[in-house]
Amino acid sequence: MICYECQQASKRRDAVALCHHCSAALCPEHAVVLSDPVTTQYPVCKTLVLPLRARLFLCGTCREALRQKFDNYREETTVPGVTARVQEEHAVSA
Ligand SMILES: [Zn+2]
Ligand SMILES: [Zn+2]
Repeated sequence: MICYECQQASKRRDAVALCHHCSAALCPEHAVVLSDPVTTQYPVCKTLVLPLRARLFLCGTCREALRQKFDNYREETTVPGVTARVQEEHAVSA
C-alpha cells in the first residue's frame, strides 16, 4: 500500500501505518503517533486512567480535527477536582 497523503501530492511512498480515524495509509512522514489514554470503568460511575497508554496513529487531517477532543479529554483527566476547588475558593474570597 502507498501513502495516501503522498499520493495526493503525486508522490509514491510505502505506507507503514493506517490512520485510526479515516483508515488512510500513511508513510512515516505523514503518520502522527499519539499515546492514547486507556481507561477502565469502576462500578460507581468512576473512570480511572490506567498507567500504560496505547499507541494511536492518525493522519494530519484527523489529528487537527480531533485535537479539540483530545485537549478536552486531557483537561478532564489531569488531577480531577483540584482545578475546580481552587476556582471555588477564589470565587468565595473575591
Ligand atoms: Zn506520505
Ligand atoms: Zn485520518
